[in-house]
Amino acid sequence: MTAPTQKPFDVAVVGGGIAGVTLVIGLLHNRVPVTLYEAAPRFGEIGAGVAFGPNAVRAMKLIDPRIAEGFAKVATQNQWESKRDLWFDFRYGDGTHAEKHGGEVRDLIHPLYCPGGQAYTHRAHFLDEMVKLVPDGVAVFGKRLVDIEDKGGEEGVLLKFADGSTARHSAVIGCDGIKSRTREIVLGKEHPAARAVYSGKYAYRGLIPMEKAAELLGDELARNGQLYMGQHGHVLTFAIEKGKTMNVVAFSSSETWDSDNWVVTTNKDKMMADFAGWSKSVESILTLMQKTDIWALFNHPPCETYYKGRVCIQGDAAHGSTPHQGSGAGMAIEDSYVLSNLVAAVEDASGIESAFEAFDAVRRERTQRLVKTSREAGQLYDFELPGVLDDVEKIRKNLDGRMGWIWYEDMQAELEKGKRLMSGRSSL
Ligand SMILES: Cc1cc2nc3c(=O)[nH]c(=O)nc-3n(C[C@H](O)[C@H](O)[C@H](O)COP(=O)(O)OP(=O)(O)OC[C@H]3O[C@@H](n4cnc5c(N)ncnc54)[C@H](O)[C@@H]3O)c2cc1C
Repeated sequence: MTAPTQKPFDVAVVGGGIAGVTLVIGLLHNRVPVTLYEAAPRFGEIGAGVAFGPNAVRAMKLIDPRIAEGFAKVATQNQWESKRDLWFDFRYGDGTHAEKHGGEVRDLIHPLYCPGGQAYTHRAHFLDEMVKLVPDGVAVFGKRLVDIEDKGGEEGVLLKFADGSTARHSAVIGCDGIKSRTREIVLGKEHPAARAVYSGKYAYRGLIPMEKAAELLGDELARNGQLYMGQHGHVLTFAIEKGKTMNVVAFSSSETWDSDNWVVTTNKDKMMADFAGWSKSVESILTLMQKTDIWALFNHPPCETYYKGRVCIQGDAAHGSTPHQGSGAGMAIEDSYVLSNLVAAVEDASGIESAFEAFDAVRRERTQRLVKTSREAGQLYDFELPGVLDDVEKIRKNLDGRMGWIWYEDMQAELEKGKRLMSGRSSL
């Protein structure tokens, strides 16, 4: 029996985060030769938690079941059996509101369930599992993309790196994150959507040993997902590392972001001042936080295309989002499934642009909807959403209708639609 043949073209992937690595695994799985160029000296993720909904886990399985197996090794769910299908228990976090609404038992506003399961993990541990699936030699490090010349035809694209080196490939897919250089190249540097804009929210992130968290908060709050809502801020917590650690993200608001840096160091007093007057639980969580770096949250204005010629963008490079629906990385994994299979459906390099066109057609609306609704979710949790504000019945209704379209998408149907579009059998 002869081995299945490789595709007669090759693809460059720029950026080795969750988008780039899952895309590379998908392309290799489909016999598409690929090289990954990463600016950093090695693969790496920050030390923080990340949550994945059932759509993201399905996309992992569809790309390559080994991704889902690797994820299962490092995934953590809510620790109580009775809370396994819970996304978050939404609670009042700011003292004033809890009182105003009668101080319900433990301030519960609404439990939002996610049938099919929500799972959490430590980012670096998940990336480590995925990187095991990337063969030696596929990734090249220390390569910061600065420009692309797209000649098309036989010549393909020429990638230019900050160290003066170049590389030629049939096509390039930018997975270079929310500050994407590839996005600027696709849209044009002066395009109003070329760069991300400040969302009005920033976040403190921390990891707390579970034993300490449980001591102060009690088992239920520490070991299961919680989202404490308040005026102009919210705090979320969930278990990672098989329940050994509690991940915390505490969000606050500001009109503008005046620093060029998106991550700045501040002190504990500033953090405590942001949540002055909040409930005992929130105060306990913040007291346990060791690091007080602030992360400014940016997002992309919608753009009219995700590709130009032989250059395409996906993941945060295409739809950098705020994290309020916990789905940016999940959408990147969905992108990887659809895009790797569309590219694999092409016979030779001349067809790659039609794969990019189909990807843009089936993925842009969904992923830009995430960016928009995620920003609104941030306002909802902070009692700022117009028409809802702090009306508890409206908040419950809004929460119930918020996540289903993300979690229960049929990605195989999206792919089939894309393939039909490529072969000219359907218009969308
Ligand atoms: C506070 C917070 C919490 C979040 N929580 C969740 C969550 O719970 N669930 C979820 O699904 N999503 C979450 N997200 C979103 C998620 O983190 C992102 O959507 C996801 O990590 C994006 O992955 P990416 O690979 O597209 O980009 P990145 O992870 O940014 O990776 C980009 C890579 O490209 C490299 N690079 C950049 N520029 C160049 C260049 N010019 N040349 C070469 N390489 C380059 C970078 O070094 C990096 O390795 C959260 C985001 C934030 C900020």
